[in-house]
Amino acid sequence: MYDVIVIGGGPAGLTAGIYCARAMLKTLLLEKETLGGQAAKTPIIENYPGFPEGIEGVNLIERMVEQTKKFGVEIAIEVVEKIILSNGDKIIRTDKKEYQTKAVIIATGSRYKELGVPGEKELVGRGVSYCAICDGPLFRNRIVGVVGGGDSALTEAIYLSKIAQKVYLIHRRDQFRAARSIQEKISTINNIETILNKLVKSIKGEKRLESIIIVDKNSNQESELKLNGLFIYVGFLPNTDFIKGLINLDETGYVITDENLETNISGVFAAGDVRKKTLRQIATAVGDGAMAAIMAERYLGQG
Ligand code: NAP
Repeated sequence: MYDVIVIGGGPAGLTAGIYCARAMLKTLLLEKETLGGQAAKTPIIENYPGFPEGIEGVNLIERMVEQTKKFGVEIAIEVVEKIILSNGDKIIRTDKKEYQTKAVIIATGSRYKELGVPGEKELVGRGVSYCAICDGPLFRNRIVGVVGGGDSALTEAIYLSKIAQKVYLIHRRDQFRAARSIQEKISTINNIETILNKLVKSIKGEKRLESIIIVDKNSNQESELKLNGLFIYVGFLPNTDFIKGLINLDETGYVITDENLETNISGVFAAGDVRKKTLRQIATAVGDGAMAAIMAERYLGQG
């Protein structure tokens, strides 16, 4: 029997783990793939306090994991399939085992959204990618496109501009939604060309990506853009399929919590990007993780 099981090992889950363990709660953290979530795939993080020069995502996560282990959190790499309620306790069923716990913190984050255009699925791993830090180095001195207009697309375009010969930044509107500071940086980089008001209609290539067809939103005119790589950053979807029907979710699938980060089920909390909230950043994820852990401690009558 655990006091708390944290589901998800990104910044929110790791922080929740640190706080729970420091509160002397018997804590297990379950992660389905690799610790760190989206943050570990971010080349450089410039807005997390304490690192004035910026810090590589993977480096920040290594430090968080070290701290989590230091305080005695057990970590297991297993896929959580279901949360089952059992007389006030909760049973967490994974692909390997069942665990019993008094409280749960859901910190499963989100996954990338696909564009949903012809050719995308077929060419993933053959020119089409959702992770610049993983696949970017394969495109040294090549020509790549980045789709999207948010913080992710612009940040990754900056990263790719240091590797690729040329980066086309393709966005469906005439304005980016990314932070001003990132937009300003983009405008100073010579090998990034922005293509605005264009939708990606299809992705073409026989064995590998060869080109994309883009459509002008105003004139409806189509054109072909030759590319070696295409990086898609058009937002994220919450990882909440395994709790549908048990936990209240909003229309997109984000977990609805009260101000103490508790869900509709007593003793089940949510933290980080998986939660319905206004700002999804590492700084807000770690804040959520701390809050959820303290609230779990209070729920258990120890805080
Ligand atoms: P986002 O802010 O949701 O932006 C998604 C972008 O993709 C938008 O520009 C959107 O266009 C576009 N888009 C969506 N569907 C599309 C489609 N079917 N075809 C073409 N374009 C499409 O997602 P994000 O940039 O991944 O950011 C997610 C969260 O992480 C945000 O809260 C962000 O602040 C945070 N984040 C922060 C940093 C940082 O602070 N450095 C870095 C990365 C992420 P519209 O603008 O027209 O809607």
